[in-house]
Amino acid sequence: MKTITILGSTGSIGTQALEVAKKHNIKIKALAAHSNAELLAKQAVNYNVDYACIYCKEKVNNLKELLKNTNIQVLEGMEGLKQIASLDGVDCMLNSVVGMVGLLPTLTAIEHGTDIALANKETLVAGGELVTKAAKRNGVNIYPVDSEHSAIFQCLQGNKKSQVNKIILTASGGPFYGKTKEELALVTKKDALKHPNWSMGQKITIDSATLMNKGLEFIEAMWLFDLNPEQIEIVVHRESVIHSAVEYKDCSVIAQMGVPDMKIPIQYALLYPNRMECPTKRLSLTDYGTLSFAKPDYETFDCLMACIKAITIGGTMPAVVNGANEEAVAEFLKGNIKFLEIGELVKEALKNIKKEEVTCLEDVLNADNNARLFVRERIKEI
Ligand code: NDP
Ligand code: MG
Repeated sequence: MKTITILGSTGSIGTQALEVAKKHNIKIKALAAHSNAELLAKQAVNYNVDYACIYCKEKVNNLKELLKNTNIQVLEGMEGLKQIASLDGVDCMLNSVVGMVGLLPTLTAIEHGTDIALANKETLVAGGELVTKAAKRNGVNIYPVDSEHSAIFQCLQGNKKSQVNKIILTASGGPFYGKTKEELALVTKKDALKHPNWSMGQKITIDSATLMNKGLEFIEAMWLFDLNPEQIEIVVHRESVIHSAVEYKDCSVIAQMGVPDMKIPIQYALLYPNRMECPTKRLSLTDYGTLSFAKPDYETFDCLMACIKAITIGGTMPAVVNGANEEAVAEFLKGNIKFLEIGELVKEALKNIKKEEVTCLEDVLNADNNARLFVRERIKEI
């Protein structure tokens, strides 16, 4: 029986991971959330965990009260996340928090020698170099949970990495596919939160609407699979049936397909290399009838090109675009800026913040902080 921990258990990925864990008798040793103490306490009791960690200081007493009649130890803040990441007897830590706050716990778990199931893409975008080097040094596996990266990982099984020509990273195109800048100027938060194929947390749903999500995934793929930017082709595929593909030297293309349901990649990451029954629908290609493919619109969706430029420049620039985006999306969700301003702020941050080399975690944290400050200052001027 496998033992895992989950950071971000109350979110979209976290709750689906718990479903998968229940089905396959995976033991959960610890759970963590940001502020949803009620759901975290329920999960902690239901899954009989040893530790429950709440990040938000104001909610610690609330969680303690909810768990007072149990033996579950309550942890708090970043220290608590790091404690979970350093637990012994854990086969894999699922990192499904949102945002680059997941970077430090991931590095901690890697240094501890614990495998990672990684949903939290911001971690690899901001700290890809640190994370991949540390994983290599410690002999730790990183199992991708993001559906596209899980697909690529699956398409690579049994093949030689050195014989890969390129990968095809599919994109649903989000709720605003085909729209012009003029039309996007008018969209609301409610419109942006309506994704055509996936039900996800708010931040990634907005990232899908701006195509920042695909930009982040582009960077994530480069780190996970050791690719150059020229080896990644983004293809808009509205139906989200082909989750991505790999083209080999012989021009053979291997794709991975399935219904759009995150439980499939979550389960593959947690049970790798096994393929067990999954609580989802089976794919019927004839129900779909046709599948469509198109080129992405780099002109309209600023964030996508900003991410590609950032990783091409390298150093701290991916952390800059990620930090700027996290801040801008939070402000958009609060109703303080317009939809198109997210892309403008990310582009501006890329243009105005100087590149530094990444030698240690502080370099990444500083770049992230500078990007957030930059965005906050710009918003004051708007
Ligand atoms: P949600 O917003 O639904 O959930 C985020 C989770 O992280 C919640 O449990 C939240 O707790 C927790 N969390 C946030 N900040 C902290 C913190 N500082 N410390 C501890 N826990 C924290 O997000 P998703 O599940 O949609 O996404 C999670 C990650 O997975 C993101 O990086 C996203 O890009 C990636 N991903 C998601 C996909 C999806 O289908 N949802 C698909 C592919 C990737 P609380 O509930 O208390 O706020
Ligand atoms: Mg994805």
